[in-house]
Amino acid sequence: MKIEIDRNGLIALVQDLIRIDSVNPYLDADGPGERQIARFLQERMQAGGLEVRVMPINDTAVNVIGILRGSGGGRSLLLNGHMDTVSAKRMAIKPFDPLHEDGKIYGRGSQDMKGSLGAMIAAVEAVSRAQVPLSGDVILAFVADEEYKSIGTEALVEEYSADAAIVCEPSDLDIGIVHKGFAWISCEVKGKAAHGSRPAEGIDAIVHTGRVLSEIERLSQQLAQKRHPILGPPSVHASLIQGGTELSTYPDHCRLDWERRTIPGETRQEVEQEVAGMLERLRAGDDSFQASAELFFWREPFEVSTDEPIFAALEAACRSRLGRAPDISGFSGWTDAALLQGAGIPTVLFGPCGAGLHGAVEYVETESLVDMANILADTIREFCR
Ligand SMILES: [Zn+2]
Repeated sequence: MKIEIDRNGLIALVQDLIRIDSVNPYLDADGPGERQIARFLQERMQAGGLEVRVMPINDTAVNVIGILRGSGGGRSLLLNGHMDTVSAKRMAIKPFDPLHEDGKIYGRGSQDMKGSLGAMIAAVEAVSRAQVPLSGDVILAFVADEEYKSIGTEALVEEYSADAAIVCEPSDLDIGIVHKGFAWISCEVKGKAAHGSRPAEGIDAIVHTGRVLSEIERLSQQLAQKRHPILGPPSVHASLIQGGTELSTYPDHCRLDWERRTIPGETRQEVEQEVAGMLERLRAGDDSFQASAELFFWREPFEVSTDEPIFAALEAACRSRLGRAPDISGFSGWTDAALLQGAGIPTVLFGPCGAGLHGAVEYVETESLVDMANILADTIREFCR
């Protein structure tokens, strides 16, 4: 029997989700976080007969997990979606008053990723309604804080596992199998304060930081020689700089933070050595150069093999519903897929079409949501049968 999702129900659900402000409070202090949207999803899943658990993380962040139990012995599938959004300020449309027009649903989070949250629910409800016999469990994981530090999925993988996962970030109905990781590095350059008229007594920390910037530029050129077949080269860029005290004083300190985007195969240890090497070269060239650096935040790159059964199941469902083979793609940004894959769960990325994520005009394409929900339902039937 062919499973069909409830198209109008899906559109209404996505609009309901957009109406709930779930801006991440770590990105925008006025953001309420995930409590309210989690309660909405909790009630919706309970009404659908799922086993539901609310997993509080802190005052504003919460995960909510719904399980459609299989009869036992089959493969389990986890569908992951983040409930938080980036700030809704400076949008050119009404962020929480979703407009459905010309085949698009507009609003903050429509593409990233409340459209997907709706499609996840619609898929499981359709599977449940059609009484598809499943032996494995389907786990719907609605998580907190993906847009900042991913404390939601970090907490999730402590307690939940599955035979495979789909992270439902928008992918234009293609299958994402790889994305970059990143490292944040902070460097403190020391100088010596002195009156601006006494150069012999001062060491200029800001000028010395310029040497670090030159090293970053050189590294950037080196990295451009490396290449991942889908992602291309890794990269590095300077992010923040702060130093000095006043105009007539030699600056005694300067802080420079930079970001290094990594490709699969690059390790934390290699990036730390890269940073240490830069500072060693600068020290070797000038005794008065003093600096220390720390890699203070690290996220692994993500890559999954197309030999994984979840890839085959999802690809077959795409072919049958879309009448074409999906493209195999890389993501430009980092996602929770890296945490799930890192926890040993083979993970792919799959979501709808749209535009404007994090931008002034954000929308998701309605038909792509309907396709996505049907493809998820078929994938569940095949993978968890
Ligand atoms: Zn997202």
